[in-house]
Amino acid sequence: MDILRDIASLKRWRLNQSAVGFVPTMGALHDGHLSLVDQAQKDDMTVLVSIFVNPTQFNQASDLEAYPNTLDADLAALDQAGVAAVYLPDFDQVYPDGYRYQVNENTLSQQLCGAHRPGHFDGVLTVVMKLFNLVKPERAYFGEKDHQQLQLIQGMVAAFFMDIEVVACPIIRESDGLAMSSRNLRLTPEQRALAPQLHQTMASGVPIQQMKQRLSDLGFVVDYLESHGGRLYGAAFLGEIRLIDNVPYQAEEAA
Ligand code: AMP
Repeated sequence: MDILRDIASLKRWRLNQSAVGFVPTMGALHDGHLSLVDQAQKDDMTVLVSIFVNPTQFNQASDLEAYPNTLDADLAALDQAGVAAVYLPDFDQVYPDGYRYQVNENTLSQQLCGAHRPGHFDGVLTVVMKLFNLVKPERAYFGEKDHQQLQLIQGMVAAFFMDIEVVACPIIRESDGLAMSSRNLRLTPEQRALAPQLHQTMASGVPIQQMKQRLSDLGFVVDYLESHGGRLYGAAFLGEIRLIDNVPYQAEEAA
């Protein structure tokens, strides 16, 4: 597995590849990330994974500082999975402009997670545009775990006529239903025991107001639970840790 730490090495590597399947991540890898790699391999892509904890998409400094870093284990898992190359840029490489130039979307990015995390999707879209321009992949793989992000990236690729096929991959869950997430590593044992209730409650089919009540009775602080285009999107805190999830959902009939 090639480990690429700068743009020059990335470009040299890219010259010798044809069909590149790109999997952008922030590290602390789990089976959700590896499922994207697996899909890219099934599609006969040469797989490049990036690991870059992108500061511009964090709206809280404490969340960025506490973001898990398991680089050695990540590299071992990617090597084991048969990934062709890993790109590990640093901030100055990705942001030579100091984030003066940004990609903004002004509608969907303001809703759901965007309404609660100002600037988050500007950071996401900007870094993904930059990484796409550096890697020039044929296909890029994203998880439905971050469904709103996936839609915004699909929209950006269409809006800017980018010649990249965005492949959506299903949510990978723990056996108790909790959506896998790097932030799950930060849950205390008590919070981890409660965490699957977010998915269980969202999948229960009861009215949204009852879901909110149930979650707050259990000790979650609900950020939002909203249905949108046939899905129910939710975000809730357990202590400092913000969990998100989404499930297919039949909108409630107007009461
Ligand atoms: P992250 O490292 O959290 O930025 O995630 C990198 C990519 O992995 C994104 O496309 C995520 O949607 C995807 N991903 C993260 N967790 C999961 C999961 N549990 N199932 C499927 N995809 C996931």
